[in-house]
Amino acid sequence: MISRRRFLTGLGAVGTVGLATWLTRSGNPPRPTASPETVTTAPTTLPPATTPPSTTTTAAATTTSSPQTTTTVEPVGALAVICKDAWGAMPVAGEFRQHTIDRITVHHTAVVLTDNRAAPARLRGHQEFHQGRGWPDIAYHFIIDAAGNIYEGRPVDAVGDTGTDYDPTGHFLVCCEGDFNQQPITPEQYRSLIEILAWGAAAFGVDPTTIQGHRDVASTSCPGDGLHALIADGSIATDVIAAEPGELRIVCGTEAEDLVAAVESG
Ligand SMILES: [Zn+2]
Repeated sequence: MISRRRFLTGLGAVGTVGLATWLTRSGNPPRPTASPETVTTAPTTLPPATTPPSTTTTAAATTTSSPQTTTTVEPVGALAVICKDAWGAMPVAGEFRQHTIDRITVHHTAVVLTDNRAAPARLRGHQEFHQGRGWPDIAYHFIIDAAGNIYEGRPVDAVGDTGTDYDPTGHFLVCCEGDFNQQPITPEQYRSLIEILAWGAAAFGVDPTTIQGHRDVASTSCPGDGLHALIADGSIATDVIAAEPGELRIVCGTEAEDLVAAVESG
């Protein structure tokens, strides 16, 4: 159990020394092809927020106790995030603009995701498309697939990008794979959305009742009628407030590659 106060006390470090003091990165060292922004600092010594000491158990270690050889894609810690190298992100192409997050907006990819095995490939496609627009990286800070897996996007201290008419400076951008004008958000995806929003709200000191959808700040249907309804009726704010913010752990190396392989194999 960790108090919101404790999370907020870590805020001062975000803008100056990055997230290393309260964001755990684990797994193998980045490969030589790691993108330039990859955090290479040692894992933080900050104890896990809401999970037992075994939180550092790798997916591989967990699954060796199971007779199944197929890795089940379950969050390893309270909030396991698959690092960019593992989902096959290209290196950052260009300069980021730095910002300090003071608001949160929710997005969708506006593409129906019919087979979640394609989620990592879809992410690579989004990044390629975004970089093709001249943006340095995928537009969003975190992306969630239909199974609830959370993927690392651009660094949170970097301003996102948008093709619409608003300035994303200061926005924490969370994107759910799918088109919620045409399909409902899955329970797993919603749960992960709430968890990452709760983390972001605590980490950046954002009032959960101010969480908006993209359409609230720009001319777009994003994040789709179905998902936006959950913002507009207060469901998401209520669930974020009720959620206990967990520690966010960026999973790298073979552990993350195993997770991606499990996603791709279904
Ligand atoms: Zn959007």
